[in-house]
Amino acid sequence: MKNIYFFGNGQAEGHGNQNDLLGGKGANLAEMTNIGIPVPPGFTITTEVCTYFMDNQSLPSDLKNEINVSMNKMETIMNKKFGDERNPLLVSVRSGAKESMPGMMETVLNVGLTNNTVSGLAKSSSNERFAYDSYRRLIMMYADVVMEKSEKIEVENNIGIRHKLEAFMEKYKKNKGCKNDIDLDANDLKILCSEFKKIIKKTLRSEFPDDPEIQLNNAIKAVFQSWNGERAKHYRKIEGISDRAGTAVNIQSMVFGNMGSGSATGVAFTRNPSTGDNVFYGEWLENAQGEDVVAGIRTPNPLNNESRSHQSEKLQSLEDQYPLLYKELFTIKNNLELHYRDMQDVEFTIENGHLWMLQTRSGKRNGISAIKIAFDLYDDKVINEIEVLNRISSQHLNEIMLPSIDVEKEKNEPVITRGLPAGPGGASGQIVFTADDAQTWHANGRDVILVRQETSPEDVHGMYAAKGILTSRGGMTSHAALVARGWGKCCIVGCTDLLIDYSSKTISINGVIYNEGDWLSINGSEGNVYGNKLPLISGNMKENPLFEKIMNLADKHRNLGVRANADTKNDAENARQLGAKGIGLCRTEHMFFSPDRILSMRKMILASNLEERQNALNELLPHQQKDFYGILKAMAPHPVTIRLLDPPLHEFLPQTDEQIKQLADEIGVNQERIKQIIEDLHETNPMLGHRGCRLGITYPEITKMQARAIFSACAQLISEGIKPLPEIMIPLIGTAEEFMHQRDVIMDVYNEMDVQIEHKIGTMIEIPRACLIAEQIARHADFFSFGTNDLTQTTFGYSRDDLGGFIYDYLNQSVLPCDPFESIDVVGVGKLVEMAVRAGRNKNPKLKIGICGEHGGDPKSIEFFNDVGLDYVSCSPFRVPIARLSSSKCKI
Ligand code: PEP
Ligand code: MG
Repeated sequence: MKNIYFFGNGQAEGHGNQNDLLGGKGANLAEMTNIGIPVPPGFTITTEVCTYFMDNQSLPSDLKNEINVSMNKMETIMNKKFGDERNPLLVSVRSGAKESMPGMMETVLNVGLTNNTVSGLAKSSSNERFAYDSYRRLIMMYADVVMEKSEKIEVENNIGIRHKLEAFMEKYKKNKGCKNDIDLDANDLKILCSEFKKIIKKTLRSEFPDDPEIQLNNAIKAVFQSWNGERAKHYRKIEGISDRAGTAVNIQSMVFGNMGSGSATGVAFTRNPSTGDNVFYGEWLENAQGEDVVAGIRTPNPLNNESRSHQSEKLQSLEDQYPLLYKELFTIKNNLELHYRDMQDVEFTIENGHLWMLQTRSGKRNGISAIKIAFDLYDDKVINEIEVLNRISSQHLNEIMLPSIDVEKEKNEPVITRGLPAGPGGASGQIVFTADDAQTWHANGRDVILVRQETSPEDVHGMYAAKGILTSRGGMTSHAALVARGWGKCCIVGCTDLLIDYSSKTISINGVIYNEGDWLSINGSEGNVYGNKLPLISGNMKENPLFEKIMNLADKHRNLGVRANADTKNDAENARQLGAKGIGLCRTEHMFFSPDRILSMRKMILASNLEERQNALNELLPHQQKDFYGILKAMAPHPVTIRLLDPPLHEFLPQTDEQIKQLADEIGVNQERIKQIIEDLHETNPMLGHRGCRLGITYPEITKMQARAIFSACAQLISEGIKPLPEIMIPLIGTAEEFMHQRDVIMDVYNEMDVQIEHKIGTMIEIPRACLIAEQIARHADFFSFGTNDLTQTTFGYSRDDLGGFIYDYLNQSVLPCDPFESIDVVGVGKLVEMAVRAGRNKNPKLKIGICGEHGGDPKSIEFFNDVGLDYVSCSPFRVPIARLSSSKCKI
């Protein structure tokens, strides 16, 4: 097994297509090296070694040799030696998984500095301050990542070693009257290094290792270990990344942005990641290293005028300060974008006037910019139509449907402060100060805004739970900004007016105090903060001119039909506007709950004989007919699948004594009789009780009334010159006889009509037996529609209403890969679907087959439904655009 892939001096052993093996970062470092971009030499230890490490808790025996060989090559290229007392080579040790997991795993910089090498570095760089600054950074990071986290040392009160060291440094600075780290001189840093070591020894009960080899070896292990750190696991769960994939480790020669003036570090996007505009966009800091830009400790300078914000208005841009280096960087960004044919997110370091590229990766972007970038690249003939579709995710589409603050209300509301617009859209919520609180409050049904000085990867669970994120520090590439943008979450960063006091849980904005629980609203597209709860309006994709363009492109490339689940005329119109070509499920029971109908429905249920029941049904008929008329008209000439009554009858009956008394008075039946009927109708397990076709078999007059309402509505439409296309759907079929019984009742009604109405009669397939005998049912049915909600319930035997009690335990312990009611269980429920499709079509090649359970709007499930050859998926109107996009990708 080859464990290591070297890169350096214009040649790399790996290449850009090896993300699985080298991780995204490693593959890109290799690729950049190969295409002549200046990358510091280094090597990547593969993800396979990570898997080995996780399985064996040790590294492969031959790894050490390979590391030595690669270190020698680096030493030759850099003309330095690892551990050398005069001219030491230092290395960075970074994680890098296949899928980007920004900030979720660990990094150790400046590995190789010891008591001896630090003075060598001071001499070789002629910069003692720089050497000791690098040393104190190593001590801090190493203690945190290697000595504490990877050793799984329990931390008291959330105050870990890093926090302790930072607090010590802050106190030291205060005593010396220094404001910034940069104000500390070499001697101060020397003192800090030595004090840090004492604190580490006292706190962690072991010494900081004064040996480069030990540092390197342990740092590699710690980075592998961080794959299974809590925040990485949490992030993977949210993003659906496999736990087995593992991370690669990149060991690379250090280059220094903190060597004084003439040295710098920065991050940039080849296009604006918020708007998608084709402008180079980024931030940089002089005399800084590694994470300084993204950590939000100092407000970074803009790369150029296009990157200026009101925070960085007066700061010097890289373009102005170092025009030649900027030009070189600009050329590299053009080359990278052309090479990767996509917007890139790059990291660079300038060491004494020499530009090095440390990383490139596909840049995270929000929905608006993803769509704009994809179409711009298409217009420039860089990518084709299919690639455009693949570049736009359902999440991106969701984002252009994002909520925003009602403009009318916003106009009249004073802006209490402003920050950087890091994540677009609007959010309103109650202030919380910790990620844990955000999660708990959210679980209790509250909307929250997570307010932090800056966020760290430890906060991701709270950021995910919050409606919006507001930070007092950081720039557009800070952690908060990157994570929020990736999730399409509303976010404002660098809001410097915000004075946060975590201990009293208050913020002060220009002298006004806001407490935990107070409401804020934020406009993440503008960076405006409001001190009130403002109403939000849901996103209006119709206003995005590119929306129609994507939808048309998706429609051009898909085979699968998309319908909507809709029970009212308005929903049907809405669904049609969003591109639904038909209704896949109209749940008729939803039409009986309104106040003007429930009484007739109750009379029907309480009827003691057929005549009474028929009278009640006669009252319901005109209501149903009117509803069907509206829905069929809104969708004509597309098909409308109308499902016959499905729920257990007692759902319609009153619950409390008071309601029972009221009903008794209204319909003139005595209370005791009503109570008796409710008792008789009570079922221990109503989900498996008297519902679906079972109701229509017991009371065929209900089916008749519904069929009459449908056909009469159709007759009326036909007389008006409109062509309706009803598909009558019989629910919860488990035997062919059930189906035939109900079909005959419907046909009796149809045969009484004196107009010809094109129609279909079909069934839901939602219990396993129906899948097993699909062939028998298909002989008589015109269509099948999979009710995957009930099919999942009955296949797993999990009550769809009671799953909440254990699903989180199942997910947390990886007993289930995902909630099967959200995304179809391909291997189990899916197998039944596949079997029923095959058997059904075998018997009846004209059988039309769709799906109308919740899975119809889930991108992963849609892929499966496409693969098994369904004709259409049906989902809620709001998810129709996503279903259109997702189904276009299936064909690809
Ligand atoms: C289903 O079971 O998947 C379905 C669509 O019907 P309902 O959710 O109404 O039971
Ligand atoms: Mg069902």
